[in-house]
Amino acid sequence: MRIDKLLAHSGFGTRKEVKELIKTGLVEINGVVVKKPKEKANPDEDEITVGVESIDYQEYIYFMLNKPQDVISATEDTYHHTVIDLLEPADIILDPFPVGRLDIDTEGLLLLTNNGKLSHSLTSPNRGVPKVYYAQVDGIMTEDDIKQFKQGVTLDDGYKALPAELKILQIDQEAESSEIELLVTEGKYHQVKRMVQAVGKEVVYLKRLSMGPVQLDPALPLGDYRSLTDEELESLK
Ligand code: URA
Repeated sequence: MRIDKLLAHSGFGTRKEVKELIKTGLVEINGVVVKKPKEKANPDEDEITVGVESIDYQEYIYFMLNKPQDVISATEDTYHHTVIDLLEPADIILDPFPVGRLDIDTEGLLLLTNNGKLSHSLTSPNRGVPKVYYAQVDGIMTEDDIKQFKQGVTLDDGYKALPAELKILQIDQEAESSEIELLVTEGKYHQVKRMVQAVGKEVVYLKRLSMGPVQLDPALPLGDYRSLTDEELESLK
C-alpha cells in the first residue's frame, strides 16, 4: 500500500497534507526515511513511524452502535442525520457504513464496518443470518400468531415470509398491548412491522437485540458505539 494513502487513512490529513509531511523527513519505514509519497509499505510487516509516533494501521474497522431513533442507516442524507454523524471524526476516516438497515424509528444493534465482504455475508439473503428483535405491539399477540409466524405469514404485497420464531414476553389485557421477541432470518423492507401487521396488530416500538451471534451490549447507551471485541469479530467470520 502507498505510504501516503496509509498515512491519510491513519488520520494524518489529506493526501496533499501527507505529502507535505513526507517532505519534512519525519516519516520512516523500518528506520529508513521516506522520500516519495508513492513508496510502498506493508502495514502488517513494516514498522512505520512519524517522528516518535509508531503507526498501528488497521485496514478494517468494526463497530456496534446502539442506534437511537431519528437517525437513518445510511452514510449520507439531505434531510436527516445519519448513523455516521454519531461517530467520532477519527472513526470516519476509514469510511464505515452500516451493515444492512434499521428504520428511522427503530433502535438497537447496528453494525458498522468498511469490510464489504463481511457486510455482504451478513446481509445476503442466501445466508439467512438470524436477527432478534424486541417489539411493543398495539394488540394482543396469541398462540395462533406463534403458529402462523412459524409457518410464514403473508405480507401486504403477497410475499410469504420465511418461518420466524415468535416469543410472547408479556400481555397487558387491559391496555390491549403485548411485548414480544421475534427471530427472523431475512431482512425485507419493514419486515417485522409488516409481519405483525399481517396478524392484525401494530408494532409501536422496535429494537434489534442481535445479529447472528453478536448481541447488543446492554451497557451501551442509546447513540453510543464501541469496537467489536476480537471474540465478537471472530464469531461473525
Ligand atoms: N423490521 C422492521 O420493520 N423495521 C426494522 O427497522 C427492522 C426490521
